Amino acid sequence: MNFAQIKALDSQFVMQTYARHPIAIDHGQGATLWDTEGRQYIDFTSGIGVCSVGYNNERWTAAITEQIHKLPHISNLFYTEPYARLAEIVCHRSGMARAFFGNSGAEANEGAIKLARKYSFDKYGKGRGTVITLVNSFHGRTMTTLTATGQDHYHEFFFPFPEGFRYVPAGDMGALEAAWGDDVCAVMMEMIQGEGGVFPLEKSYVQAAEKFCRDHDVLLIVDEVQTGICRTGTFFAHQQFDIHPDIVTFAKGIAGGVPLGGMLAAEGCANVLQAGNHGSTFGGNPIACAAGLAVMEILDDALMAEVARKGEHIRQTIAGFGSPYVSGVRGMGLMIGVGIQGMTHKELCGKLLERGLMTLTAGKDTLRLLPPLVISQEEIDQGLAIMADVLKA
Ligand SMILES: *Cc1c(COP(=O)(O)O)cnc(C)c1O
Repeated sequence: MNFAQIKALDSQFVMQTYARHPIAIDHGQGATLWDTEGRQYIDFTSGIGVCSVGYNNERWTAAITEQIHKLPHISNLFYTEPYARLAEIVCHRSGMARAFFGNSGAEANEGAIKLARKYSFDKYGKGRGTVITLVNSFHGRTMTTLTATGQDHYHEFFFPFPEGFRYVPAGDMGALEAAWGDDVCAVMMEMIQGEGGVFPLEKSYVQAAEKFCRDHDVLLIVDEVQTGICRTGTFFAHQQFDIHPDIVTFAKGIAGGVPLGGMLAAEGCANVLQAGNHGSTFGGNPIACAAGLAVMEILDDALMAEVARKGEHIRQTIAGFGSPYVSGVRGMGLMIGVGIQGMTHKELCGKLLERGLMTLTAGKDTLRLLPPLVISQEEIDQGLAIMADVLKA
């Protein structure tokens, strides 16, 4: 099918919930994609932070193919090797105690909120279910994670929203202390507010928030759905903040392109959820976990060091453009935000796409870059050359 045919079908039969770009992507190799009309793009998006090992990665496709032949799915009422092995690796690389696998970021955060509420219920009884989240955060699209998301425009139309959330501005310890009460069971935050505009939190604030949680026996939930799985140059971003969260959630990049998400619990709350308390039909499916295991092998320590180096190179190069359209460059590793002025971030994203570079937007005025973690230096240079040209005065 060509683009016009695909678009016609989509327009007639698909709920129009996405403002799509006028392109249908057909296939990819490395960090390069081709559309149905044969046009080529450098990918600075990885889906949205998902395709961490790029496209047509041999090790990844082989692992999935092998697992599909053996066993694509079995219920969680049975043990499977991929689930147990992936849990072990993710725990080892994060220092956490136990893992639960679901299918998406929102589902991971739902699980984290359930775990925190039950931890509190088991110890203190009813009435301690409030979760404090940050203004400008993003935690997902289910009813509860929409409510957890600290942006007013997500709190429209779908009334009634669940209770039990309170919002404080990022970086403001006074506001966090003022928001505390006997009803609070958890504080939830991203280390870099991704959808909100790629704003990293201050290390001193994150550490003070951790201490605040300890002092009140409130669980610290770190949402690493976007920042996690080597994206920022460490396995999880919070490892660069020198903190020990009680719960960490992840999804996007964990399985390199098949749906997998989940949460990790530290020793102190690793046994809160018991048989019957939580579950998922597809969660931790053998195909998804086999994909995750391949991703874990590919994203080793050497590759993580490369992620940090490539990210630094991209940030410095963009800052060095001296473009009047760039108001600032932020981020960690290959999670990069470029502040845009003098045109909208969406206009810029469209212009780059026309020239063969795929990027994302975030917040009000941020161009967001989330390239595959395996992107080659040559692909980076091609992408940056397009940016330099489009951003010149
Ligand atoms: C993308 C994202 C989510 C939601 O993940 P889904 O897989 O779309 O449910 C939650 N939290 C953060 C920080 C995200 O970036």
